[in-house]
Amino acid sequence: MSTSKSVSVKNLVKTFEGAGGRKVTAVNNVSLTIEPGEFVTLLGPSGCGKTTILRMVAGFENPTGGDVLIGGERVNTLTPDRRDTAMVFQSYALFPHLNVFENVAYGLKIKKMKSDDIRAKVMNILALVGLSDMEGRSPNQLSGGQQQRVALARALVMEPAVLLFDEPLSNLDAKLRIHMRREIRKIQRQFGITSIYVTHDQAEAMSMSDRIIVMNKGVIEQVGTPKEIYATPASQFVADFIGTANMIPSTVLSCGNGEAEIETLGTRFRVKTGLSLQPGDAVKLIVRPEAVSLSRNSGIPAEIASSVFMGSYQDYVLSAHGQTLLIIDSDPANHETFDAGEKVFLGIAPNKLHIVK
Ligand code: ATP
Repeated sequence: MSTSKSVSVKNLVKTFEGAGGRKVTAVNNVSLTIEPGEFVTLLGPSGCGKTTILRMVAGFENPTGGDVLIGGERVNTLTPDRRDTAMVFQSYALFPHLNVFENVAYGLKIKKMKSDDIRAKVMNILALVGLSDMEGRSPNQLSGGQQQRVALARALVMEPAVLLFDEPLSNLDAKLRIHMRREIRKIQRQFGITSIYVTHDQAEAMSMSDRIIVMNKGVIEQVGTPKEIYATPASQFVADFIGTANMIPSTVLSCGNGEAEIETLGTRFRVKTGLSLQPGDAVKLIVRPEAVSLSRNSGIPAEIASSVFMGSYQDYVLSAHGQTLLIIDSDPANHETFDAGEKVFLGIAPNKLHIVK
């Protein structure tokens, strides 16, 4: 395996000619660096530009502006086969007339490797992805998950410095998708191979990534670990896109020294924040459903609108100070539960308070 390499893109821009000659800016001045061995996800809604970035790193698309660097070397003018990357596609893109072995061996044959060496390498990789006994099958004799493993094996066998994944699990059923997330991550760790993974599935991004890059309309909204992105989203877009968030309208009363006092839900909170704010500014308090506790005695008055037992958690909708909030009690067996119509009080964990503009 070649040593894994860093990937950087600097001020990357891609414009396409859209319908009627109108210019579409798919990627708008994006800069980021992915460290050697890191698993990074590009996450965002359809059309936000994530696939276009991946394709520019691979060399399938030329940037309109900016640079792509792999292992510190500018690769803008290199063809895909000279970039030390391999791509795993959503559609698998297997050769239908070749069997599993031949599909995986294809790239090595092109490289004119000796056939004994090819056999050893291919069988080794097939064992790794759990397909040792299927070398003679043709792709149409395989399930979707097995086909995707062949596609993964075909990429890995080339021993690239960087693996690129373009929504590789989208065509699989939900259960297999979850299984394959773990498999891909396990193999990626084993090889220590730098990986860029494109998905619009936030659970996939959360469960697999060292860092997530959240994109919207061709620009980066936030870069962070899954925990950072969940706990301290940088914008309403990120808060809404990752997990469930109550976004409660609030007014800034005072601010300074990395803190703000805000008024919301008829009460006042002190919140740590990096935002630059003025008294009177409107902000949103981001409250995750599990950050709220309910009680009968003290806190912000609220009324339960619905209460549903979901097995491992209790799901509440309630109204407080004219706002509708979604609340989850993740340990209902050990807490008092409340019914629709009941008056309660809510408390928000102080260390879970976070505001966005
Ligand atoms: P998806 O999840 O739907 O693939 P994405 O975030 O990967 O979305 P891109 O495929 O990168 O988005 O596309 C970004 C924008 O660029 C979209 O508006 C898309 O329509 C446009 N686009 C992409 N490729 C082309 C092309 N070859 N010609 C014209 N426009 C394009």
